[in-house]
Amino acid sequence: MKRERSEQLYKEALDLFPGGVNSPVRAFRSVGGTPLFFTRGEGALLHDVDGNTFIDLCLSWGPLILGHAHPAVVEAITRRVAMGTSFGAPTEEENRLGRMIVDHIPFVDRVRFVSSGTEAVQSAVRLARGATKRDLILKFDGCYHGHVDSLLVNAGSGLVTFGTSSSAGVPEDLAKLTVVVPLNDHDALEQVFRTHGPRLAGAIIEPIPANNGLLLQERSFLERLRELCTAHGTLLIFDEVISGFRVGFAGSFCVNGIVPDLVTYGKIIGGGMPVGAYGGRLDLMKHIAPEGPVYQAGTLSGNPVAMAAGLAQLTECLRPGFYEALEARTASLCTTVNAHAKAKGYTYHLDHIGSIFWGFFADTEHIRRADAIDGASMRTYAKLHAALLERGVYAAPSGYEVGFLSAAHTDAQVQRVAQAMCEALDAVM
Ligand SMILES: *Cc1c(COP(=O)(O)O)cnc(C)c1O
Repeated sequence: MKRERSEQLYKEALDLFPGGVNSPVRAFRSVGGTPLFFTRGEGALLHDVDGNTFIDLCLSWGPLILGHAHPAVVEAITRRVAMGTSFGAPTEEENRLGRMIVDHIPFVDRVRFVSSGTEAVQSAVRLARGATKRDLILKFDGCYHGHVDSLLVNAGSGLVTFGTSSSAGVPEDLAKLTVVVPLNDHDALEQVFRTHGPRLAGAIIEPIPANNGLLLQERSFLERLRELCTAHGTLLIFDEVISGFRVGFAGSFCVNGIVPDLVTYGKIIGGGMPVGAYGGRLDLMKHIAPEGPVYQAGTLSGNPVAMAAGLAQLTECLRPGFYEALEARTASLCTTVNAHAKAKGYTYHLDHIGSIFWGFFADTEHIRRADAIDGASMRTYAKLHAALLERGVYAAPSGYEVGFLSAAHTDAQVQRVAQAMCEALDAVM
């Protein structure tokens, strides 16, 4: 595999951007080596500047559920962009995407478009605080909610702890307004509401945590969280930036039927363009400016080109059988690799939900909390990642990141991925 051109471009980038990149994990720090520079994507395939071609399992970290350059998305963007890129005024496209969401997601009465997942989360947290007139936010260790100041916090060593900031530049006084408990820990959940319930404005969780491994939660844990939020007047915020439109059109609701008070979206919603959104019940969304006192705005919010891309992509997602087909292909990938690992006695397992999958080096079928992940195994992941690249498969450059399949991945391509994974495991284990 040739890497000369990518290496040269990365060298140039190091003189331009912090760490040579515009988002940290792209720098390949956790797998070693230098990042690949890409030129073109088509369907499941990615082409880099050195002429290598890969089957893509990263898919821009989730947004590309139709694969690269889907004809309907390209057509929608091209048609819309020729009429102007932004007006800072309402367009019909916003109504159409808004209508699609409100009509198909039972707990979203009103939605507000923003330009990223981070912005959606930040706005939803502000709304929760504004609507409840409380300050504390509950978060779960192992969930990622973008680079929102109050959520860039780590758990301490106790069962229920006030956050300590996990990034320089986040004041400890702000981090202290976030309470952190482990995922899937029933005792900690009871205790945090017993201690802080009346002061909790909101509880934010990825109902399908997929940013620090895939930490599938027991349904009873999410159900109890819902009950406790209701009992204490705490707003339940589902951060579905990754799971929304991914495991089903209505996200985790399609899996477990649990209803949040507020929800955040990003990634898939924009068809590969920068879009985020937050929404929920009418009485809550009424607090948002200009209707209510919670301020939130955006120069490029509801951008018509991005709305057109989102509409085109979500239209495809609504086709009958869309999610079933994706799930079936992902299940087949996982079954093949898991059978191989088992036959060879490797301590490796692929867990999945819908078209999200994650492999880990432990002798169990599910990992449900962040502190159960073996940090040392990430060195093995780095070798696996390199072995996959050599075999023409581009997986996320971090063992804590999940993989995705798109509707563009054919059965033959999925089989090639499965074979590459089995061979890579043979080479590494
Ligand atoms: C990706 C992600 C975010 C952040 O979205 P950006 O568009 O990167 O700002 C927030 N929450 C979850 C669950 C995510 O997966």
